[in-house]
Amino acid sequence: MRLSQMLFVTLREDPAEAEIPSHKLLLRAGYIRRIASGVYAYMPLLWRVLQKVSQIVREEMNATGAQECLLPQIQPAELWQESGRWDTYTKAEGIMFSLTDRQDREMGLGPTHEEVITAVARDTIRSYRQLPTHLYQIQTKFRDEIRPRFGLMRGREFIMKDGYSFHATEESLKETYADMDRAYRNILTRCGLKFQAVEADSGAIGGSGSQEFMVLAEAGEDAVMYTEDGQYAANLEKAVSLPPEPIASAFTTPEKRATPNTATIATLCDLLGCSPTQVVKNVLYQAVYDNGVTVLVLVSIRGDRDVNDTKLTNELTRRAVDYEATTLIALDVPDTEAQAKWAAKPLPLGYIAPDLDDDYIAGSKTVAPKFLRLADNTVTALKNFVSGANDTGYHTVGANWGETYTLPDTLDLDTAMVGDRAVHDPNQTLHTARGIEAGHIFQLGTKYSAALGATFTDEDGKTKPLVMGCYGIGVSRLAQSAVEQSHDRNGIIWPVAIAPYQAVVVVPNIKTEPQMAIGTQLYEALNAAGVETLLDDRNERAGVKFKDAELIGIPYRIVTGRSIEAGQVEIVERATGTTEEVAIEAVVSWLQAKIAAAV
Ligand code: ATP
Ligand code: MG
Repeated sequence: MRLSQMLFVTLREDPAEAEIPSHKLLLRAGYIRRIASGVYAYMPLLWRVLQKVSQIVREEMNATGAQECLLPQIQPAELWQESGRWDTYTKAEGIMFSLTDRQDREMGLGPTHEEVITAVARDTIRSYRQLPTHLYQIQTKFRDEIRPRFGLMRGREFIMKDGYSFHATEESLKETYADMDRAYRNILTRCGLKFQAVEADSGAIGGSGSQEFMVLAEAGEDAVMYTEDGQYAANLEKAVSLPPEPIASAFTTPEKRATPNTATIATLCDLLGCSPTQVVKNVLYQAVYDNGVTVLVLVSIRGDRDVNDTKLTNELTRRAVDYEATTLIALDVPDTEAQAKWAAKPLPLGYIAPDLDDDYIAGSKTVAPKFLRLADNTVTALKNFVSGANDTGYHTVGANWGETYTLPDTLDLDTAMVGDRAVHDPNQTLHTARGIEAGHIFQLGTKYSAALGATFTDEDGKTKPLVMGCYGIGVSRLAQSAVEQSHDRNGIIWPVAIAPYQAVVVVPNIKTEPQMAIGTQLYEALNAAGVETLLDDRNERAGVKFKDAELIGIPYRIVTGRSIEAGQVEIVERATGTTEEVAIEAVVSWLQAKIAAAV
């Protein structure tokens, strides 16, 4: 492609709308144009990158025996009603765009395709002889994200590869899951990315496991916890650890103490001269279920620890049946306005004890009359601890479970912290890094097949629900992650394997005949030899062309400058900035060798 003929517009200034480097650079270099919040036009250069990423994904998927297909983006509400996800996906904080067609039928734009693929399987899979089977597609997804941001990182329209496998047994599912783990590692390695596979939260679905593939970068929205021995890595949402041992309490008898202005753990410990590990703090949450029922949740956790929202959400989702609901739709710390809707009298906020009386709740048809009391494992072993006294300005010291308070149901609700000891080896401590979730593989089990009645006849003649796995990778997010991981102050540095073009021939001055002639000749020879090459033949100053070549991040720049008099051109490697003089007739083979080594 000749730049003189291309719609090629770069910006000198950082666009105000962008916060992180990759978003700024993709806009500045003309790869994307914003059309609406979270909605972008993929310009020709980006489209080439996306096609390259897609091709790598396709090759690695095909190598596992998976088959490519294309499913509809418009999906009928009925399928989502069968799986029980229509309301959660379209109401409140649901992310599915929905619409009503001219026959008044409700439809949704596909945010994911479990329902559709399960309906296909229901109609086509009859026997264990057809299993296992695995279908995937590369397609635009729609999600009305609550906070679209960072360009392609969290779009409302984006490209994903999603695959779904069907099995007769859990063992068969595990084999495909292991194949996908390898395929995803190959994809990210071939795309030139530094990544970490981590244990991931599988939500309340359970399933036997799920793993995320994190591209490591400061701008990542996820926190990864890992140990240096390489034996443990997990998303913070899921991470477990051994918290520090509590310091023994100096209090010996239960006693109510005046502790004015100590609504925070720090002020309380200052006043009492105690350690936060001797305090049981009680955090109030408000859970709202899909049937409209609000439940007030009181979580007791050690003073030095924080509640993990994901773990709490999963537990509350599991408990939905207790409230005749199917799922949780919101979980918040209730603000004053929210409290006003159910509190029978002002709460002793900052001074709450695990036995806060249920008469603080003005129960109603939509508000459960009793607190749901839960405790994190960290509080179980505490003796003679400090907690609120349910009286503003007062705490109880020297409290004990079974005497002062009843120990609520205990479980792991703790947020792992840097420096905690690892569970697999207490000599290892947890470290943290930021990551961008590029892919997620998931052992689904029978959740969707059971709900939609997708069954098969097994060898023993019995009818069973299909065992399923699902595997997603964000093609457009992955492309931007590469930029986030690989850029400098002059612009993008594409990994060679996914660069839109591998080389650009820059003619410093198009009016200088030999420069233009040799430039054109090299451009044609390189493309003929399979090196994807641009020709910068614009009527611009050389400096502008060099800057643009760096900004758009083409791996090799060939300059037909003064050295052509000596039969040479200058080749600059974008990643290292190194410059080499190469004989004109050797350019093609020189570049072919470099590219072969890089991909
Ligand atoms: P996140 O936690 O980042 O919202 P998710 O858990 O919703 O991701 P999945 O439903 O597992 O993601 O989707 C598979 C992949 O699709 C993700 O790993 C990610 O790479 C990509 N993806 C998900 N949401 C978006 C989005 N809004 N914009 C771009 N890519 C996305
Ligand atoms: Mg999401």
